[in-house]
Amino acid sequence: CATKVKRALLSVSDKTGIIEFATSLVALGVEIVSTGGTRKALAEAGLPVIDISEVTGFPEIMDGRVKTLHPKVHGGLLGIRGNDAHKSAMRIHDISPIDLLVVNLYPFAQTVAKGGDYDEVIENIDIGGPAMIRAAAKNHGDVTVIVDPDDYRDVLAALKERGEVAYDARQKYAAKAYARTAAYDAGVSNWFAKTLDLPDLTWRCFSGKLREVMRYGENPHQWAAFYADGSNRPGVATATQIQGKQLSFNNINDTDAAFELVAEFDPEHAAGVAIIKHANPCGVGQGRTLVEAYQAALKCDPVSAFGGIVALNRPLDEAAAIEIVKLFTEVIIAPGATDDAISIIESKKNLRLLVTDCLPDAKAEGLTVRSVAGGLLVQTRDNQNADDCELKIVTKRAPTEAEMADLLVAAKVAKHVKSNAIVYVKDGATVGIGAGQMSRVDSARIAHKKSKDAAKAAKEKGALTEGSVVASDAFFPFADGLEALVEAGATAVIQPGGSVRDEEVIAAADKAGLAMVFTGMRHFRH
Ligand code: 5GP
Repeated sequence: CATKVKRALLSVSDKTGIIEFATSLVALGVEIVSTGGTRKALAEAGLPVIDISEVTGFPEIMDGRVKTLHPKVHGGLLGIRGNDAHKSAMRIHDISPIDLLVVNLYPFAQTVAKGGDYDEVIENIDIGGPAMIRAAAKNHGDVTVIVDPDDYRDVLAALKERGEVAYDARQKYAAKAYARTAAYDAGVSNWFAKTLDLPDLTWRCFSGKLREVMRYGENPHQWAAFYADGSNRPGVATATQIQGKQLSFNNINDTDAAFELVAEFDPEHAAGVAIIKHANPCGVGQGRTLVEAYQAALKCDPVSAFGGIVALNRPLDEAAAIEIVKLFTEVIIAPGATDDAISIIESKKNLRLLVTDCLPDAKAEGLTVRSVAGGLLVQTRDNQNADDCELKIVTKRAPTEAEMADLLVAAKVAKHVKSNAIVYVKDGATVGIGAGQMSRVDSARIAHKKSKDAAKAAKEKGALTEGSVVASDAFFPFADGLEALVEAGATAVIQPGGSVRDEEVIAAADKAGLAMVFTGMRHFRH
């Protein structure tokens, strides 16, 4: 049921390539109909163009708000060519079929991005364009709809070769067209939600711009693609890959976890490094330099750090690059990199280096989305940390200044560890991390056990957790969790509090001489 293309309607805001495309269409004998600005551009290029007003018998009115919204246009797009009733309606009402529709929409997102005022943004909501795109896409049995200048070449090739665009191609262009109008309206809706500061997420829409199709997903038998959400929030989706092979699905997920974590640590205060495996940190360190921070992070769990993702809170420098390449690492991400550092990384051909213009903003607003069977779970970002909390000392002993500094570090790391999360910290660096256990006691014990292994690797006696402080992502439901921390040698604890057995937990801490602080803020991460 392919249709010869006799008449095309061109109405484009982005005029890229339109003159060349129209010139070729004219050469192929296609009649061109066009709207104001597009018609002018084509006419100036010497092309024969029929003005849309001639088709509708109606002028463009209301500053272009109404140009193509007319039965002569929509009938020409929607009429089924092989349907007798449709054919007769077209005859009676003098409607000519439109076989090819080329539309790209008013630059709504660009107007928002350049800071257009309210009225200007509103005026850039395209009405007639999406209506035509949707109509032509519905009638893809007879009509070709093109919304992307990148497709002009293939359409011309098909027309030159066969005088028509094949049905399966028209189907794909229809799919692309609806993706375009859906993303467009999502952009409008999200702009309203943001501008009006609507708290109700019911009205938010989700859309993404394809960044790349990946070789596979979490596993080789899964299809996967990476989309940018249009927010331009600094992070893995806006990073530039300086070198290394293509990132995998898991790499991107883990790199995001790493960069979001390290962004909690102010680069002005100290250099910070996070090493991530399977979306959980296996070490977070701070220091005067990135080398110091990396070494501290690595010490926490050098076995797990093999094949990890390393995120930095300062631009990668040469000394840190030399240190990091000593161990097999999958990805490094940093807010910049010096030329000398890049030359060092070049020695490891497969190592991916990603850089951004700046560190992600840990306080940024935004949404996180995850899928469940038949639905999407949406929530605002967890953009708060222990610095935002009113801390309450609940034990007889108050933490020392040094303990308090480490407690805040531990709490910030725990926020980025899968629940149940237990994080031991000493001198600004993690010394034990227990992640993803179904029991908080197990998380506490696993971290302790791993810290014994790490101590052995560092040729130290006992466990690294001796004399550390510890954070828990959620309250201790029983005193046994706290007792496990005491066994590990912790001296102070930070946790949200709020359990019905808080009193028992506080009593256990007092008994062991621990200092304990309540934040009142839980950081589950499931
Ligand atoms: P032009 O530059 O040709 O004057 O306008 C092209 C733009 O107008 C395209 O982006 C197209 O989507 C849009 N457009 C076409 N018809 C209508 C209409 O009836 N109303 C509105 N608001 N926009 C339209």
